[in-house]
Amino acid sequence: MGFTQLFSRQITIARVYGIPIRIDYRWFAIVALSVWLIASNLQSHDLQLGNVLLPPLPAATAWILGFITTVGLFLSVFGHELAHALMARAEGIEIEEIVLHPFGGLARLRMEPQSPGAELRIAMAGPAASFLFALLAFGGARIAATGNYVGTVVVFFLIAAGNLLLALFNLFPGYPLDGGRVLRAILWRRNGNIKDATRMAGFCGILIGGVLILFGVYIMVAPNWRPTQPYFMGGWSIVVGLFLLDAAWKVVKSAQQAELVSVSDVMSTPMALDPNLTVTKLVDEVLPMHRHTSFPVAVDGKLHGILSLAALKALPREQWPKTAIKSVMHPIRPNFFVRSSTTLESATEMMKQNGVGSVAVIDNQGILVGFLQSGRIKRVSKSTTR
Ligand SMILES: [Zn+2]
Repeated sequence: MGFTQLFSRQITIARVYGIPIRIDYRWFAIVALSVWLIASNLQSHDLQLGNVLLPPLPAATAWILGFITTVGLFLSVFGHELAHALMARAEGIEIEEIVLHPFGGLARLRMEPQSPGAELRIAMAGPAASFLFALLAFGGARIAATGNYVGTVVVFFLIAAGNLLLALFNLFPGYPLDGGRVLRAILWRRNGNIKDATRMAGFCGILIGGVLILFGVYIMVAPNWRPTQPYFMGGWSIVVGLFLLDAAWKVVKSAQQAELVSVSDVMSTPMALDPNLTVTKLVDEVLPMHRHTSFPVAVDGKLHGILSLAALKALPREQWPKTAIKSVMHPIRPNFFVRSSTTLESATEMMKQNGVGSVAVIDNQGILVGFLQSGRIKRVSKSTTR
């Protein structure tokens, strides 16, 4: 294993709500840096927090507070990502993993949100959680200040400031930041085209990354205005800018290259079954004509469930005449249907995990308009010019 491989290898540190939480080795360096930065500042400077004056602290106290604050900040980043993940789950999207990387975190979803509204809610959940944590920590700092627990005030204050920064930075409107996802959702809703929306929001991400890099260089070299730690602040801004620039660049490139085939391009006309049809009739009359492995079950175009032939195997033959398919079908679940504008990629992912190997396609009124079965997707001719 090479040096870079070792440092990019991820380790699972916990599972929360069944979601694996992963970090890589660079993360330890950032934690150490954070503890050191906080501890060394608390040792060397007076700190004025509102009406509380904190004189330079003894080394041991400073290191302990640095450590506690860092743990608090780490939990804050984690809470931010968990908020995204739980909102995604509420929208019917399973979560692959939460990765905590040196510049924050990432909740990796199994598939893209199905609608601009879902995208917006998932994107906003993170910053909303961070604002809430900031508010709670400010409250904690105020309460601690009345009792003059200066160490506690410092910890709460730094955690509050960290959360506020996390929320505000993430609201920058450049994809893949949360604000960029919000922008993508708005553009997607307005134009109905997820690909153009992704490209535009990604372009804003490139722009913001570039501005952060220039800003970092500026505060390192500017003669008139310099913050207290110009090289550290500037370096940080450059690193975060590069990181965002790289991520946004990849998004724009893949949005340009990937032929985002939508479900409507490849779906077939649905062969919907009536829920009261008996299994005998299905086997005798429908199957000889339609050799599918699963069928949508619907009444007047409204989806009730999906029947997969695999489910019939357990049913003894003598019960076929008196068994209606509604009692053997899988009743409708959120991952049984998609809209026709959904990308084929998302629909394929859904078919893999929903247990029936197919998805129904519905229109805006919820009416069944198509059906997709894995392994039976029409080939689409991909245009190469664009
Ligand atoms: Zn976020």
